[in-house]
Amino acid sequence: MRKAVLFVFFFACGVGTTLSVIPYHPQPIQQTQAIKPQVSPVQEEKDEIYNLVAYSLVLKHWQTENDRPGRGHNIGAILVDPNSHIIHGNLNCNFVNRNTTQHAEVRTITTFLKKNKAMDLDKHTIYTTLEPCAMCSGMMTQSKVARVVYGQTDPGFGKALERLQLDSRALPNGFPPYPRPVWSQPSQSPIRIQLDVAYMKVDKGLTEWLRGEEAHKIYESAKKRLANYNCAFVENKAFLTEAQDFVKNWQLEE
Ligand SMILES: [Zn+2]
Repeated sequence: MRKAVLFVFFFACGVGTTLSVIPYHPQPIQQTQAIKPQVSPVQEEKDEIYNLVAYSLVLKHWQTENDRPGRGHNIGAILVDPNSHIIHGNLNCNFVNRNTTQHAEVRTITTFLKKNKAMDLDKHTIYTTLEPCAMCSGMMTQSKVARVVYGQTDPGFGKALERLQLDSRALPNGFPPYPRPVWSQPSQSPIRIQLDVAYMKVDKGLTEWLRGEEAHKIYESAKKRLANYNCAFVENKAFLTEAQDFVKNWQLEE
């Protein structure tokens, strides 16, 4: 009996020792880079114009604290086809529909596909006023959107598309990047930088801050910037006029 106890004791120590010395060298999770397209200065200017359009649509239906619950959050998105024409736009309509899935990107994608009886958005770009969440990122992936350019960083719900592209196969139970990558890029507009810097200084929920006066002022300056935009590239002038007209003529579909 004593021998058996000693055997169990030494066996347990042996197992413990063996387990404690198993080398564990976690490999860094890789961010896949393969799909990142190069953005030319001409495209970057066009990108800014389109982000200014998205801000301007939100401003047209701006919701203050007094409007609660109102239509939804002050977040908007537009859809641009592979020939750089704006073909659709929509806003967050969570509250009017009493449905938390009614994000601006979801509404832009689903209302466009339904209206046009289209299956997907192959090679299209989405411009949003706020970095897409996991739900909208999943929908962009499934509908074959090529790229998204966002007008404000979301420190809480952002980087969803980047997370889908993480390659953790070097880790135990790791997995490859998700198929059909969508490239997510912050807008290079000074408006995006102003929004990010201003929000960094406050201790408030993002959607709550987006109903406030500080955010409203920055959105007003985005509208003015679009109205007075001077294209550095002559080839963007027609797209600018089209963008300004789109804002004027656009009607919200709740
Ligand atoms: Zn979303």
